[in-house]
Amino acid sequence: MSNNITNDKIDILSLNLEKLQEIFVITGLKKFNAAQVFNWLHNKLIFDFDRFTNISKNDREILKKRFYLPKLEYRTHQISDDKNTEKFLFELKDKRLIESVLISHKNRHTLCVSSQIGCLLGCDFCATATMNYERNLDISEILLQFYYVQNYLSKRGEKLGNVVFMGMGEPFLNYDNVIGAINILNCDKGQNFSKRNFTISTSGIIPGIKRFTDDEPQINLAISLHSVKDDVRTEIMPINKKWNVKELKETLLEYQKKSKNRITFEYILIDDMNCETRDAFELINFLRSFSCLVNLIPYNPVAGKIYKTPPKKKQREFYNLLKEKNVNVTLRETKGQDIAAACGQLKAKKEMSSINEK
Ligand code: SAH
Ligand code: SF4
Repeated sequence: MSNNITNDKIDILSLNLEKLQEIFVITGLKKFNAAQVFNWLHNKLIFDFDRFTNISKNDREILKKRFYLPKLEYRTHQISDDKNTEKFLFELKDKRLIESVLISHKNRHTLCVSSQIGCLLGCDFCATATMNYERNLDISEILLQFYYVQNYLSKRGEKLGNVVFMGMGEPFLNYDNVIGAINILNCDKGQNFSKRNFTISTSGIIPGIKRFTDDEPQINLAISLHSVKDDVRTEIMPINKKWNVKELKETLLEYQKKSKNRITFEYILIDDMNCETRDAFELINFLRSFSCLVNLIPYNPVAGKIYKTPPKKKQREFYNLLKEKNVNVTLRETKGQDIAAACGQLKAKKEMSSINEK
């Protein structure tokens, strides 16, 4: 809780309805007012105590004394040439920067949110890994990414359809706040956003997957796989030293047995690393035990890295090998490359330019 208290005031946005009711009663406010306040915040997306017209002036003063409303300061917004990818950069209360990416297909909008500032896991192909790890995001900081972009879309009469935790950070190393934010978004007094419309992407944090298996059968799971060979996976994803491919597979089989959900596997295609014909066959073999979808993602270049994106023809061949064996597979077009839409890249660029300005 310590993160959520500033000058003894409580971060009101991070509280679910039950906690808000509990604290209202302790504070001398009425329990039924908690539902009204929750509705202002999480349904109407009004972040100003003075606009809570069904709360008495006196009670609004108590609110101001006891609680604070966290903010995300909007910094930059970049739109890709094809207009389908929009990237938002936000500044947090401690001046740290995070980003969220909005990906649109006609009127279908998916928001990619961050769960941490930086990431501890050091995957060698990932821009986020080149930044310092700072901290986990609070529940409110996760929610505000959604609320900011939802407000932005509302102006054109549109709504978010899906949320994916594929921005900066490893969501299962911030499990409580990620699930806490999803539960608030799912609450019928708030956005009533179905759990089925969330996807959590993990690099393979086994204790997180196990907890998720027991607690959250409705939220979708995506796994950053990138290789089924331990030596290759360890080279590009150090977390594989701690939890290897075999352990990951066993944990996922258990997840699938219990949840009956289809798993999404993300597989970045990196030239001379993981996308030869034999890699495709090993991957097909690994996938046999699963009901799944494989997203092939051409490597998005990161400054200072030697990795190469395979030529289009090679990407297609890899895709076709999987397709021929009846694997559910998609080959992602590299979207929004002109605005560096891969994980963490806008923030990396922004930091570079501020360094250059000094
Ligand atoms: N930490 C979590 C979620 C954030 S990363 C995870 O690793 O799953 C979200 C996705 O972006 C992951 O699949 C990651 O492997 C991918 N990604 C990271 N850097 C990339 C790059 N340079 N090109 C393409 N995809 C990348
Ligand atoms: Fe962290 Fe995911 Fe990037 Fe790996 S790919 S460094 S786990 S954010």
